[in-house]
Amino acid sequence: MVNAVTVKGLAARLDKAEQLVAEGAVYPVAGCDGYAVVRNGDGTQMYLVRFAAGHENCTCPDFKNRQGTAGLPCKHILAAELALGDRPQPPAPAAMTVDPIAIETARKLGIIAPAKVAA
Ligand SMILES: [Zn+2]
Repeated sequence: MVNAVTVKGLAARLDKAEQLVAEGAVYPVAGCDGYAVVRNGDGTQMYLVRFAAGHENCTCPDFKNRQGTAGLPCKHILAAELALGDRPQPPAPAAMTVDPIAIETARKLGIIAPAKVAA
């Protein structure tokens, strides 16, 4: 089980990841789903990130020296997931239902054309 120190470290990384996303620091890699290039906080470096679930990797020192060996994400992986990861699909719109009484009323009032009678 992860302990409080680990969770606190992840929370701090998530805050920084959200900041990177807000700054537009996450770029998709054309032709490579699950990969991103993420700029570091001061804009001096770019890190190659793989954020596909189960294959997470980052070229930053934090991931190489700490997070990766612990099986945890760095802020760049979190940022890539936030910016480019699969998002839950919105629910499909409910099928439109037509109230036949409303249609007939609209026809009687001249709001819509009378029904054409098939020949
Ligand atoms: Zn990283």
